[in-house]
Amino acid sequence: MDMVNINTIYNSEVCPMQRIFVCSALILGLNVSAMGIQTTFAQTEASTAVSPASQATQSLQFHQLSPNIYWVSGGVGNVGIIIGTQGVIVIDTTVSTDTAQQLLAGIKKITDKPVTTVILTHEDADHVNGLTAFPANIEIIAQKNAAKNIANSPTFANAAQYLPNHLIDQQETIVRQGITLKLLHWGPAHTAGDLIVYLPEQHTVFTGDIFTLNQPRTLIHYNKQGSSEGWVTNAQNILALDADTFVVGHGDVQNKAGIAQRVKLVSDERNQIKTLVAQKKTLAEIQKIVGDPPPTPAGSPPPRFAPFSEVVYRELTEKK
Ligand SMILES: [Zn+2]
Repeated sequence: MDMVNINTIYNSEVCPMQRIFVCSALILGLNVSAMGIQTTFAQTEASTAVSPASQATQSLQFHQLSPNIYWVSGGVGNVGIIIGTQGVIVIDTTVSTDTAQQLLAGIKKITDKPVTTVILTHEDADHVNGLTAFPANIEIIAQKNAAKNIANSPTFANAAQYLPNHLIDQQETIVRQGITLKLLHWGPAHTAGDLIVYLPEQHTVFTGDIFTLNQPRTLIHYNKQGSSEGWVTNAQNILALDADTFVVGHGDVQNKAGIAQRVKLVSDERNQIKTLVAQKKTLAEIQKIVGDPPPTPAGSPPPRFAPFSEVVYRELTEKK
């Protein structure tokens, strides 16, 4: 595993399970479950496009949801694949060029159709850094706040052809390759630029990292203008969609009950913290009560994601 990949993975998300998985996977395997048939590429075939140093990061699993919709795990952030009439729509792009090359090789095993549209659910590296493996001059859709930060990212400093070229402010319904896609932004949640992809005809939602089901708690980028209050709004709106399949940013695909459970858990915890703040409890007292890790000692590097309790506390006490 080269240093670029290590740094990207370690800086991208707090994903202990994913880290353990990608760092301990010594055998390169690209499993494609197409039409319910599980096939494994031979190592030599799959490794032609990647350097040996990066092989340990490559182990993508394709999961079929319906005849033309798949989700892919193993690329740190989950990916969605929608095969349309003449082309393929991809939602998020994995963590690196190498991993995205594996993704594209896997798509080729399913369909001959080219990738024509990429939709980015937000700006985090584990969802956008694979873009540079994609064909140039395709449509790249992102929420405008995310697009701005992607343009400022060093990864894309010399890759202007991969910057989002179709920006969403709040909501837009588009039809691509015969598929109706509702692109939804309900204000800040995980970041300031979250974009939810809803396929009303397929009753399927790609939530991005508003839902990270491999984590015990919701992750909010407070330093990227994410919002726990906004998270509750977004999560409730996602839950209210006429859908029964929810592909989350990290973790397994969910049904409505799974999403409802998470929305209730996080909303209840936020309400509890709000009550404790109103009672003038300190952050340390609140974190002890809700079972979050205590505040980082002075002088220690801060964790990438502040604990959920700290985000709520700061929102309620700093923005007055
Ligand atoms: Zn992520």
